[in-house]
Amino acid sequence: VCFTVIVIIISRLIPTIGISRPWNILLPAKLLTLDLAERLSTDPDALDSASHDFGHIVKRTPTAVLYPSSAEDITALVKFANYHSTPFSIAAKGCGHSTRGQATVKNGVVVDMTSLKTGVIVSGDPLSGFVADVGGEQLWIDVLKATLERGLAPVSWTDYLYLTVGGTLSNAGISGQTFRYGPQINNVYEMDVITGKGDFLTCSRMKNVELFYAVLGGLGQFGIITRARIALEPAPKRVKWVRVLYSDFSAFTRDQERLISNNQGKDNQAVDYLEGSLLMDQGSPDNWRSKFFPLSDHSKIISLITTHGIIYCLEVVKHYDEQTLHTVNEELELLLNGLSFLRGFMFEKDVSYLEFLNRVRGGELNLKSQGKWEVPHPWLNLFIPKSHIEAFNHGAFRNIVLKRNITTGPVLLYPMNRNKWDERMSAVVPDEEVFYTVGFLYSSGFDDWEAFEEQNKEIFQFCEDSGVEVKQYLPHYTTKEDWIKYFGPKWKTFVERKTMFDPKRILSPGQGIFNNN
Ligand code: FAD
Repeated sequence: VCFTVIVIIISRLIPTIGISRPWNILLPAKLLTLDLAERLSTDPDALDSASHDFGHIVKRTPTAVLYPSSAEDITALVKFANYHSTPFSIAAKGCGHSTRGQATVKNGVVVDMTSLKTGVIVSGDPLSGFVADVGGEQLWIDVLKATLERGLAPVSWTDYLYLTVGGTLSNAGISGQTFRYGPQINNVYEMDVITGKGDFLTCSRMKNVELFYAVLGGLGQFGIITRARIALEPAPKRVKWVRVLYSDFSAFTRDQERLISNNQGKDNQAVDYLEGSLLMDQGSPDNWRSKFFPLSDHSKIISLITTHGIIYCLEVVKHYDEQTLHTVNEELELLLNGLSFLRGFMFEKDVSYLEFLNRVRGGELNLKSQGKWEVPHPWLNLFIPKSHIEAFNHGAFRNIVLKRNITTGPVLLYPMNRNKWDERMSAVVPDEEVFYTVGFLYSSGFDDWEAFEEQNKEIFQFCEDSGVEVKQYLPHYTTKEDWIKYFGPKWKTFVERKTMFDPKRILSPGQGIFNNN
């Protein structure tokens, strides 16, 4: 009888874990008795792919990867982890487009959200408005394509659309629309969330309110988002896309701030998108993310960069369709009138709305074809109060970045309005009405990424020494003290919410906030 029982147990295990797969003893054997066991993998390739991210700086190998087929699989896993004698960590992973191992977990289970296929469901009517119910695993590009089929689209974006809804809502989701509509987290009505205790809850501004605000910008600490209801508006058909150049930083930021002060949702007198970037001597005014400037103008832009060291590029977009086809140029002209950019340095494109929103994809595919996508990305993303941006230009851009002259890849710089962010959400922004985001989006080699880390450190040191108050976006800190400082007055609430929704500190250990995993 004993032998038969052993044979039955072994025969049940074999299809689950695969004969050739090494069974990692750290994973509780009892997990295999759950239905989800069939979708739990310890395959070395699965573990390897879950152990790193877009940053290629941090590597943490999980014990197993769950490829859930439903929210129930995740709920069962989280509940199991809670009630197991030694609770283990779990990290939801979207695309793993983080850069510091935020979606990794050592000796725990990574939940590969992309194996869920929840889809996108559009509902509503013109009177009450339209919404999209989208799975947390959905890529924004798929949300866009599905909603465009109905002539609709979300209003707030990221620059790159191959990111999951759950991943960007755990941070904020920012781009050139943020000044006007707020970050993506501000455009969510409702979510289904599996908390760190394994409870499946629907939350909104009216229901399970604390969970709703906790999860938005919550760095994956409170629950796993399986569905989000996103606000939609009628989608524009095309965009006029303009870049103008500045040598004078004050004129550049003054114009950016003037343009974002006009930020009412449906105002025709406002730009629909505003960003900015630095052009430095990198051989071409274009970079991998953006091929914008006509080749025939490259040499005159390069000579401008050589003269000034750094050129500041303001970028705006105005939407249009059949109804506004005849007025869009005039509206754009009015908006650009009175700006102080360098005459002769205005560049324009006219593209479809989809082409504009999906503008980074071409660069990604190009890098992938050259084997340059899977390389280290020691990125640094910051929020800087308006009152300190001039000092940052001198101290960081000119005195550190320009002098070191190692920067490869885009450096973004654009302002947004704090009143478009909801203070009750977990996301942290500076305590000033207008603040800037700065993104150093470096690509490096496997043997020289430390040089960029050194530059990042020097930038932080400069900020510390000169009282420039920065907050990181997509934050990464390694000590508890730094996290407490980062959250400031929000730390107490953040901890209370953790105790409320994930008391055993199971979720997203890779962020390094509550458990240094
Ligand atoms: P992952 O990296 O897989 O996960 C990030 C965090 O969220 C982890 O802690 C993870 O555990 C948690 N998480 C993942 N899914 C869920 C879920 N369903 N529920 C709860 N928690 C979850 N960001 C911007 O705001 N604006 C940009 O313009 C922008 N551009 C980018 C361009 C590129 C090329 C890249 C690589 C990144 C860019 N990002 C941008 C950053 C991006 O928003 C974050 O890295 C985001 O976390 C990536 O989403 P992801 O789906 O890959 O999440």
